[in-house]
Amino acid sequence: MSGAAGIRGVPGESELATRLELALERGGLSLFYQPKIHLRTGALAGVEALARWRDPDLGQVPPSSFVAVAELFGLIDALTEWVLKEALRQWTMWAEQGLKVHMSVNVSALSLRDPWLPDYLHRSCAQAGVPCDQLTVEVTESATQHIVRLLQTLSRLRLKGIGIALDDFGTGYSSLLQLRQLPYSELKVDQAFVREATSSREARVIVKAVIDLAHGLGLIATAEGVEDMETLELMRDLGCDDAQGYLLAKPLPGQALAEWVLGEGPRWRSACGGAGEAMPSCPT
Ligand code: C2E
Ligand code: MG
Ligand code: MG
Repeated sequence: MSGAAGIRGVPGESELATRLELALERGGLSLFYQPKIHLRTGALAGVEALARWRDPDLGQVPPSSFVAVAELFGLIDALTEWVLKEALRQWTMWAEQGLKVHMSVNVSALSLRDPWLPDYLHRSCAQAGVPCDQLTVEVTESATQHIVRLLQTLSRLRLKGIGIALDDFGTGYSSLLQLRQLPYSELKVDQAFVREATSSREARVIVKAVIDLAHGLGLIATAEGVEDMETLELMRDLGCDDAQGYLLAKPLPGQALAEWVLGEGPRWRSACGGAGEAMPSCPT
């Protein structure tokens, strides 16, 4: 299984599934949050919730492994439910501290097959007291997805005010046909292109074309995997709206994210000229 590197004594998939099921029942997972900023102002655009699982015997298991196992062993809806509940709980905790932070959650294409998902998300937001427009669902395309059914589900999500980001665009199964037909609100440029954009002309041309494509379709363009200042500046110069990556912050626990927003956040705002200041190159 890909992504299993780093697990002590790699177990089989079914053992991993048993352990994951237990972790879901007993609160063995956590959510980390990675900030995203607006490139023109440096203001916080939102956070992406990313699941983390530390098994007592296996140590940290990467999401690339346990999400795949959850999909294979019928645990994906339980994982999606847990992630959503926890993300909404964190949203309200930040709101109590005076922080209103747009929240993006990753939802597997398998969970999108459930026709009740839009109602479930709507009800969950209402119960938690979170406005639906504070939530974005990040989806990656799948070759097996039935386009008509997907169109119905995504349209119902958008009607409820929930955003939909097409994740990892440019790799996997992402197709221009789906982009034309489905009601996305945001397009996330895959980090494979973003990372190479400063050194490879071809990658830069692709990133620019994807950003223009997003804008032409009325979508927000977000660059994933921004690791250095040169890349951040290039993304801004290419007209990209938002950026996310280790340069800004790695995924952080909820309280650490709140501290980042109060401490690092204003430095990015001034670095990007958000408070009317000149555009310097970087906070040090
Ligand atoms: P993703 O949704 O594309 O999330 C971005 C991934 O890139 C995260 O990896 C994040 O930690 C990593 N990343 C962010 N900035 C940088 C950077 O500057 N450099 C590099 N090298 N990496 C960066 P993570 O947390 O390991 O998640 C991997 C994938 O697992 C996610 O990709 C997403 O597809 C999936 N995933 C994570 N959490 C969940 C979840 O709660 N539910 C579902 N269904 N999938 C999830
Ligand atoms: Mg994502
Ligand atoms: Mg991504």
